[in-house]
Amino acid sequence: MLDALIIGGGAAGLSCALVLGSAKNKPFAKNKHIAIITHQKTSHLQMALFNNVLGLKPETTGASILESGKKQLHDLYPHVEQIENEKVCVISKSINGFKVETNKNIYESKLVVIAVGYTNLMTIKGLYPYIEPHPRAAIEKNRIWLKNTNHLIENNLYVAGTLAGWRSQFAIASGSGAHVATDILTLWNGGKHVKVHDKV
Ligand SMILES: Cc1cc2nc3c(=O)[nH]c(=O)nc-3n(C[C@H](O)[C@H](O)[C@H](O)COP(=O)(O)OP(=O)(O)OC[C@H]3O[C@@H](n4cnc5c(N)ncnc54)[C@H](O)[C@@H]3O)c2cc1C
Repeated sequence: MLDALIIGGGAAGLSCALVLGSAKNKPFAKNKHIAIITHQKTSHLQMALFNNVLGLKPETTGASILESGKKQLHDLYPHVEQIENEKVCVISKSINGFKVETNKNIYESKLVVIAVGYTNLMTIKGLYPYIEPHPRAAIEKNRIWLKNTNHLIENNLYVAGTLAGWRSQFAIASGSGAHVATDILTLWNGGKHVKVHDKV
């Protein structure tokens, strides 16, 4: 049984995993079992080139961020399990949370974060009831969001990134993932607000 499972290894999913992982020394996060399904084949980062993101060297490719993001997570926060080469097919409720079925395995998690991007090709069974036209994208693009309030779809089920209804900009998607992570940490901390800062 996982405490938190993040689905999607793009901007929002990896950012969420990094912030969750960075709380490893907080007492309320210490023994939490966190995992991320780092599927990246369909990430919008694959084709992106970044000149307008604060902190990124101009001409940084999205493809390099996909690789370096996984490495950063592995090097700094190895307790966050990275599940590679699996694609989620079904999400359903279970007694203690959610059952997540991939093309290879079944996982159970108390809490799930969905960060699979806003394309209408999304085919995860169990999420269809929440799908609506994206509120902040050009209509002709047929983008979708999962209806949510402040990233929460329902108890313990979160959505992050473009699929949460945000416009497609790297900083916004990453920020959305980080936002969800701090919401989860706040939940684990009994409702007391949490941020995770390192200092020089
Ligand atoms: C060509 C292009 C250029 C861009 N240029 C810029 C730019 O200059 N500046 C800027 O700020 N933004 C730019 N962007 C936008 C930026 O890349 C996106 O806003 C950002 O990647 C969205 O992050 P996300 O996490 O919502 O989705 P994604 O990064 O697309 O991540 C979604 C992840 O979910 C995974 N996934 C999908 N389905 C499943 C499944 N069933 N199971 C498990 N995992 C799954 C995917 O493989 C992917 O890794 C550009 C985008 C494109 C396409």
